Amino acid sequence: MKTKTSRKIIMKSWIIIGMVLTTILMFYMREKPEASSVKIIATEQSKQIAPKEQSEVIKEEPKIENKLSIKPVGKVVYLTFDDGPSQLTGRFLDVLKEHDVKATFFMQGVNLQNTNLQDNVKRATSEGHYVGAHSMTHNSKRLYTDGKFVQEMNETIAIIHDLTGENPKLVRAPYGSVPGLDNEQLRNQIVEANIKVWDWTIDSLDWKLKNNPYQIVENVKNGTSRDIEVVLMHEVSQTLQVLPNIISFYKERGYKFGVYNDFLHFPLNFHNDKRL
Ligand SMILES: [Zn+2]
Repeated sequence: MKTKTSRKIIMKSWIIIGMVLTTILMFYMREKPEASSVKIIATEQSKQIAPKEQSEVIKEEPKIENKLSIKPVGKVVYLTFDDGPSQLTGRFLDVLKEHDVKATFFMQGVNLQNTNLQDNVKRATSEGHYVGAHSMTHNSKRLYTDGKFVQEMNETIAIIHDLTGENPKLVRAPYGSVPGLDNEQLRNQIVEANIKVWDWTIDSLDWKLKNNPYQIVENVKNGTSRDIEVVLMHEVSQTLQVLPNIISFYKERGYKFGVYNDFLHFPLNFHNDKRL
């Protein structure tokens, strides 16, 4: 009798457990569509928030691009002119305009402060050229030994900004990044300041060829071998004299003329420091 009663109790218990489980299961199956509809609402809500987020993403995009290395495709030459603005800036701009060529200038602070030269700085950016910084003093001891590189570049960038409304982040290190920026601490400071540094692929040596300007053209021709070339020149009369020859040479060789763009940066420095 005892065992019969306990069997009955066990069976009743199983039935109750089964009913409870069935109820839970049914309840769960009823709840499921509701749960997914909540999810849809949540998705719609997040969609409603999305435009704000999207606009933020769009704003951030140039920064993202800036971090990527975006080398142009095909044969592109960047003509670069250091140490301006000078008494010759206007004439350089005339030649570039005549040949429909854009270029990249690296200008020095003390020259940028010369009010007589400022109109041509504005003209350069309004005609589609890039004006980057080349320090205030061009003084090796101050920039590299005393570590004022970033400070001087920021000062120079601020002057360019005041004159042109542009906010360039590319600089050229006076005398090149080797040996000037051999000190890694200096390079870390540059990275922190979000400044980029371009050296060159071809040194025209124009500054020392005052009496032999056609040697500048020869140096450029002899140096040209890559798809992407960055030619170092200066705002000096001998370079102005042969600039049409240099432009013709690159046109004949099928090069396009690139102008630096902060949003399409690619590293080009003697340290192969990809952060710069
Ligand atoms: Zn220089």
